[in-house]
Amino acid sequence: MSTSPSHAVGTSAAKPRRKAPVAAAPKVGLVSLGCPKALVDSERIMTRLRAEGYDLVDSYDGADLVIVNTCAFLETARDESLEAIGEAMAENGKVVVTGCLGVHENLIREIHPGVLAVTGPHQYESVMSAVHQALPPAHDPYVDLLPPEGIKLTPRHYAYLKISEGCNNKCTFCIIPSLRGPLTSRPIGDVLKEAEGLAEAGVKELLVISQDTSAYGIDTKFPRQEWRGKEYRTRFLDLCEGLSELGIWVRLHYVYPYPHVDEAIALMAEGKILPYLDIPFQHASPNVLKAMRRPAHQEQTLERIKGWRRDCPDLVLRSTFIVGFPGETEDDFDFLLDWLQEAELDRVGCFKYENVAGAHAQALGDHLDEDEKQDRWERLMEVQQDISAKRLARLVGRDLDVLIDEAGDAGGPAVGRCYADAPEIDGAVRVSGGKNLRPGDMVQVRITGADEYDLTGDVTSRG
Ligand code: SF4
Repeated sequence: MSTSPSHAVGTSAAKPRRKAPVAAAPKVGLVSLGCPKALVDSERIMTRLRAEGYDLVDSYDGADLVIVNTCAFLETARDESLEAIGEAMAENGKVVVTGCLGVHENLIREIHPGVLAVTGPHQYESVMSAVHQALPPAHDPYVDLLPPEGIKLTPRHYAYLKISEGCNNKCTFCIIPSLRGPLTSRPIGDVLKEAEGLAEAGVKELLVISQDTSAYGIDTKFPRQEWRGKEYRTRFLDLCEGLSELGIWVRLHYVYPYPHVDEAIALMAEGKILPYLDIPFQHASPNVLKAMRRPAHQEQTLERIKGWRRDCPDLVLRSTFIVGFPGETEDDFDFLLDWLQEAELDRVGCFKYENVAGAHAQALGDHLDEDEKQDRWERLMEVQQDISAKRLARLVGRDLDVLIDEAGDAGGPAVGRCYADAPEIDGAVRVSGGKNLRPGDMVQVRITGADEYDLTGDVTSRG
């Protein structure tokens, strides 16, 4: 393909490994320009392509699509990159541009308006997403090492869907941003495609996770991608809308109460996604929230919660809190207890503050002793148990869909979850009356009892 000083990389198509007919592997060519760092990027892209079953080819006419990894270090490198894109467009026509010149997307599109996608350096996810869009991988169940949905550690009927990595916040008790870097959102087309694959593989519940789900797409400025013939932007509401098309349970975790979260409540009220929000508030006292540097800490959360419940009365709210944060006074703690009484969250987890090596909060003054933290933890849990029991009691007498997690032993009740219960962290529904219930079954259950954590009920029909 391209000549020196660029690096033309690729291999010829693999020979068929068996006689049975297989779908031809899609073929990708890659032109790699620039420095050793760019070369490493190219190697990573090639590795991903091969792992997903693409063939790498070394001619324009043998490729179904060409990736040009560009350089923009000097004017001459920039010109050479633009020339290489032009050559790939003329010789092949299906071109994805990545690398350092990708930060000048407008320039590239001005000169080569037909390129399929432009991504910047180290954006492997975006490159793969653009390739998936233009040239979907061919899954061959006979030779692929992985099932189409990938390898999962969760039971077959639910799966975590990670939409981004890293975090742009700077909470003083947390070192995740320094460990995982800034927010990097996965392109929406990739996320929806993965979710679709999981649903096709039998997953009945998707748990959307990230460090900050409501910030999805802020880092990439909400690029658009097509899925199922419709355009979606890489942003929170579009994600919820896309996932709601799958007809399975969608549960949102790690959402912060930014104003745009209100838009998702309408989807919950319409039954399109589960009326469940996991919002890690961590505290309620303005002083402590400020010392924690929590995102969205200035939002009027009690008012927001009331509004959400008015618009979606079934909404279940889960949260976590930290007690004994450095400098937390008795007044701050009382404020938190009062806030909890008013907010009436359905599910609450509570942690005693612990120093984390490297976290800014370590250096704050007025650390509390362990007895004080323990005392506050117990008081908070006591208050919350009553609230949780009251909230769960309102479900008694209702008919709810329940997803079975465990079959009952020796005729005992099976264990499942309703919309109010996320796996591992919330309660469960002990289900009687259904014969041969298996994990993954969806049944309708009349709720007959409730305590602080769990529900009991009888099967009324099977889905
Ligand atoms: S605790 Fe704060 S800084 Fe840490 S991951 Fe969550 S939002 Fe980001």
